[in-house]
This record gives sequence, C-alpha cells and structure tokens, in this order.
Amino acid sequence: MDVTSILDDLNTAQRDAVSSSDKNLLVLAGAGSGKTRVLVHRIAWLIQVEHVSPYEILAVTFTNKAAREMRERIDALLPMPPSGMWVGTFHGLAHRLLKTHWREANLPENFQILDSDDQQRVVKRVSAALGLDDSRWPARQSQWFINSQKDEGLRPHHIQQTGDPHTTTLVKIYTAYEEACQRGGMVDFGELLLRAHELWLNHPELLQHYQNRFRHILVDEFQDTNAIQYAWLRLLAGAGKDQCASVTAVGDDDQSIYGWRGARVENIRNFNRDFDGAVTVKLEQNYRSTGNILNAANAVIARNSERLGKNLWTDGADGELISLYAGFNEHDEARFIGDRIQGWIKDGNSHSDAAILYRSNAQSRVLEEALLRASIPYRIYGGQKFYERLEIRNALAYLRLLLNRHDDAAFERVVNVPPRAIGDKTVQALRDAARASGQSLWRTAQKAVAERQLTARAGNAVAGFLTLIDQLDGDSEELPLHEVADHILAQSGLVEYHGKEKGERGQARVDNLKELISACKGFRPQDPEGSALGQFLDEAALDAGERQADDGQSAVQMMTLHSAKGLEFPLVFLAGMEENLFPHRMSIEEPGRLDEERRLAYVGITRAMEKLYLTFAESRQLYGSESFNSVSRFVRDIPSEYLEEVRLSSQVRRPTSYAKSAGTSRFSDSGADTGLSLGQRVQHKIFGEGTVLNFEGSGARARVHVNFDSEGPKILMYESANLQAV
Ligand code: ATP
Ligand code: MG
Repeated sequence: MDVTSILDDLNTAQRDAVSSSDKNLLVLAGAGSGKTRVLVHRIAWLIQVEHVSPYEILAVTFTNKAAREMRERIDALLPMPPSGMWVGTFHGLAHRLLKTHWREANLPENFQILDSDDQQRVVKRVSAALGLDDSRWPARQSQWFINSQKDEGLRPHHIQQTGDPHTTTLVKIYTAYEEACQRGGMVDFGELLLRAHELWLNHPELLQHYQNRFRHILVDEFQDTNAIQYAWLRLLAGAGKDQCASVTAVGDDDQSIYGWRGARVENIRNFNRDFDGAVTVKLEQNYRSTGNILNAANAVIARNSERLGKNLWTDGADGELISLYAGFNEHDEARFIGDRIQGWIKDGNSHSDAAILYRSNAQSRVLEEALLRASIPYRIYGGQKFYERLEIRNALAYLRLLLNRHDDAAFERVVNVPPRAIGDKTVQALRDAARASGQSLWRTAQKAVAERQLTARAGNAVAGFLTLIDQLDGDSEELPLHEVADHILAQSGLVEYHGKEKGERGQARVDNLKELISACKGFRPQDPEGSALGQFLDEAALDAGERQADDGQSAVQMMTLHSAKGLEFPLVFLAGMEENLFPHRMSIEEPGRLDEERRLAYVGITRAMEKLYLTFAESRQLYGSESFNSVSRFVRDIPSEYLEEVRLSSQVRRPTSYAKSAGTSRFSDSGADTGLSLGQRVQHKIFGEGTVLNFEGSGARARVHVNFDSEGPKILMYESANLQAV
C-alpha cells in the first residue's frame, strides 16, 4: 500500500487534513462530510506513511459500536491490522487505565463497575444510614447531583458551600456515597473518568509515561465531550507551551445533542485557545445524502442562532423527494412504515439498510407491534425494550400481585418500591421464614404481621403493603383493564416515585408508565371470557422475552435519535414528527433546549442517504391520553420544494373483510360492519356534524375516525358513538 492509495477517494480538503503536519488540528464540519473518514484515514496515514508506531496512537469516540467500526475501517485500509493502538470510548479507555494502575488509583484489583441501577441502590442505602427521609431526599435526585458533580470533575470538598442547607445535605450524601464505594471497591461511570484524571494528577510519573507514549491523539464527536473528558485530554496531550502529543479533534457544533448530560459544545471554541497553533479545517462537501435530504437538513438547522456556521453541499443527485405522511393515529403511522419497508424489501433491498428513528423510547412499542404483525425482523439499539424497563417491570409486578398474591418475585420487587420503610433486614427475615415453612412470601408476611414477629415499625410497614394490595384488588374488580392500571399506578405511588428522578430520565419513566396505560387500553384479549389482566401479563412476559430478531439476522434498525449519531442508512423513517413529541414538550419553553432539539432534528435528517420519510400522527395515544398535536415545526421549516405529501387516499386501510372490495377511492368503500362509508357525513349527539375519515378494527371493537366540523378529528368506538347518517 502506498501513499496515494490512502489519499484516494478523498477530496482536497480531506487530503489536507489527513496528511497535515500541523500539531493540532480541528476538523469542524457538517454531517456526512467525511469527518470520521478523515479520522480513520489519518490514522492509516500516520502508520503507513509517517511510520508512526500504532503503539503511539490513541483514538476516542462516543460509543462502543462506533469504536468497533473505527477499528474495522482502519484494519481495512492497512496491509496488516495494527496492534498496540488504543481505540475506545472515554469510559473504556479510563477503565483500561484504572485496571492497569489499580494500586496507584487506590482501588482493589478487581474493582466493580456500578451501573445506574446499582448506583442508585447504594445512594439509597447511604441516605438511609444518614437518617434522611427517602421522600425528601429521593435517591434519584441525589444520584443526579453526584453524577453532575463528577462530570464537572468535582469531589465533595470542591463544592462551594454557601450555607444553603439543601446543598449541604446533598454534599453529605455524596461524601457518604464515596466512602461506601471506596469501602466496597465500586466505581460508577462518572467515577471512571474522574479517577482516571486524578490518577494522572496524583502520579506525574504515570502521566509522563503516557505522554511519552501517545504522540497522536484523535477524537471523534468532539462536540459532545464534557468537562472532565476535555480536562483528561488536555492533560494527556500536555497542552501548553511544551505540548507533547499532536491532537486531531473532529466534530460538528450543529450535532451537539448531549448538553443535558454535561457535554460542552464550547470545547470546540476553546480548542484553538487551549491547543497551541491549532489549525481549523472545514469540510463542506457532503457525500452521504441526496440533494433534497441535505437541503432540507440545512434549512432546519439554519434557524438556530449561535452556530459556528458551515455551508454543506453535494454534487450528487437531488434524489427522491422527502415523503411526509400524516397518519390518523400512531397505529396508522406504524402500519404505513411497515408497508413501506415491505415494499422496499420487495425491491431487493436488505432489512438492515432501513432505520426507524424516534425521539422518545415510549414510541417504540406501537412501532414494534406493527413490524411484528408484518413479520418484519427488527432490532432495537441502545435502549431497552419497553417491557424490560425498570419502571414497567415495577408496574407489572403490582399487576401480577393483584392476580396472584403468591408471586414471590413480584412481591420482592415492589414490597419496598416506592420505599415504605421495609428494610433489607425485614425482607431477608421474611425470605428465611418463607423458605423454612415452604410458603409464599405473602403468606409469610401475613403470618409475621398477625403474630407480631417483626419490630413494630417493620410490622406496620409490611401490614400497610398487604392492605394496599388487597385494597387495590378490591377497587379494581369491575374496572376495565386500563383503569385498573391507571388506578394502581397512582395509588401505589409509582408514578410519583419514578417522576422524582431528575431531568429527562424521570420524565421518560413517567411517560413510559402512562404508555403502559395506553397499551392496556389497546389490548384485546384472545379469550374474551378469561381474565384480561392475566392475558395481558402473559403477552407482556413473552414480549420481554423473545420479540427481537436474532443476532446475525438482517433486521430493521430501531433506535432513538440520540443513539443514531454518527450512523447512516439508505432508508430512514423519522417517526412522530409532532409538536410536543419532537420538539419534546419539556423543551419548547426553553430556548437553549429548543436549539438542542433542533440539532437533534438535524442529526436525524442527515442519517438518511437515499430516502427519507417523515411521519406523524394526527391523534396519538401517548403517555396515557389522547392528544392532537400539530406537525412538528421542524417539518414546517423544510421548504416545500423538497417535500411530497403521501396522499391519504392511496393509504387508507380498510378492514380485512373489505380488502377485496374494488376501487381505490377512499370515498367508495363502506366501513366493515358499521354500515358507514368513508367520506360519509354523520351526526353525533355532542360533536355535531362531521365526515368519516377511516375505520379501524371490526365488530364490537370497530373504531371510526370522524373529522367534526367544529370539534376537529376524533376517534370513536362505533358501538357507543351512536352516529347517525346525515
Ligand atoms: P457525521 O457528522 O454524521 O458523523 P461524518 O462527517 O463523520 O458524518 P462520514 O461518516 O465520515 O461523515 O462520511 C459520510 C459518508 O460519506 C460515508 O459513507 C463516507 O464513506 C462517505 N465519504 C466521505 N468522504 C468521501 C469521499 N471523499 N468520497 C467518497 N465517499 C466519501
Ligand atoms: Mg462521523
């Protein structure tokens, strides 16, 4: 392999960047302009042409998936896979350092990594030990506080104490948490970064070793580095007068989407200040997307202020127009997406070339169901499946107890969730007694309460839990399933409890819980005679177990917009392009957050290579209630010349019993067993006159979509709506 072959397939600006001899290089460029490509080729160039040893190279990116891809791409460019190079995420590299230097880092050799759930349990424990009331000092909030401090590189003693009692207590918790982690040899994600940084500060000889070693540092997705990551980089590079390493950072300020997690886009601006004589390279040609897609993306991001400013163009074809589809509701939207994917597969394409991206994890359930129904294999990335999420598992545990008091797993899961002062000791005592007597935890608890085997405090708490479940069961007897779920979520305190977690996480959990109510509402038991709850729980259990495609099978890729960063797909669907959903309703009021939402829209649009669909639902059951949102402002920002609206008429789905009926006009078919036809004028007692837009389901479950003249679109149960033909 020679010099030219590494520079082949690069444009002039990219070549300059790849072969640059400048010490510090900042590649600042828009989506799909080849930033990652430049990074990869630069590494190959350094090894092959400049004869840098791979041992001297360290490359950082944002996700493990991206790191794997980077490695593969480097291998492909070189005659032999290089060894000794460090390629990984900030967390991965920090972990590696701590593993190597555990002694200097003051850790046990086999220290444990805490995930977020583990971390929360530890926080809870130390708060309790401090005698803090869990309802006033929810573990989630303290956890958020601790993590934010660590992201900024702050230990408890660094935090400025202004005498504000709230902060004082949080710092106390942070201190106790730190001690507990140190005693137990546990390290959370933020701690990895912080401690790796401190390792170097406290051990200059180690720092010097790595400074001597890594002469070339390359960073992808630089716009999303946080304070501690940036500090770590500067230290390693020896930034300052006698900077040892050369640093290449590539990024795009327009794709900074992790501000809510402490990322600092201003690191891009600081780069020129902190890294001596840094040269900025701009790449302006986009190689990923068609002209129409690129123009749309440019139009959307142009509305943000405070951009560093870039001008992205392509000399490729305009390609197809971007298709915009308005679903009647989220099911219609999902069905449409499934249809289009099937068409695309029929044309000889592969499943894995298609991606469905969405703003919020709660949207995935309906999409998953539509793909399942259409037998389209899919895989969800970077997010848990709906029924496996913590809050959903908690809610299901309550429902399971209603159905069966002797479900021990469910009992254990929620006996103290939300916290009701039933400590680990009490649970352990119950567990031991249950094991000894061979009875369920429920029975054992009843007995323990009746015979006063527990301390007064624990006994009362356990009795309270038993009463709660019995009472919830009694309340629910005559209620339809979704009202049962609603009632239980509220009365158990789960919604309030999960909602206390700060920031987007808490909101997301509450949204998911409400989405569970929607799922109950939409659930149709196979056996109408049997218990709806029982059948619902069975389905949920199966869903959690085996719905996704096998590894290795070509599957449609589903993920949130956040997880799609850096990736590209020939066919992309952006689902749920509605106000309040995207931009997220929590972000609309705050200009800073709205800008970040807009950047997220830019990231989404620029994932598409050949064809982009934007879809939204005119009405949506989300977060437990029906909402009518207008189309997202991000769609409205796209000039109409790049858009085509997919006409409803060709998409109206008729109930299967009418599938054979002739004609394509939406106005010529009658609605299954309703006796109504599409386009027909009808009268409703309360809503007045309107036009029939669509049907869903059949028989007792038939639903009719009517656009009322004065009240707008509504979806009604046909049986109870009592519509009169006009
Ligand atoms: P993002 O901002 O989304 O991370 P990026 O700037 O990192 O995008 P890449 O992923 O490196 O962009 O490149 C986008 C696509 O364009 C890739 O498929 C890449 O192979 C292709 N590409 C980049 N530069 C060229 C080039 N000079 N010739 C041909 N294809 C190119
Ligand atoms: Mg990239």
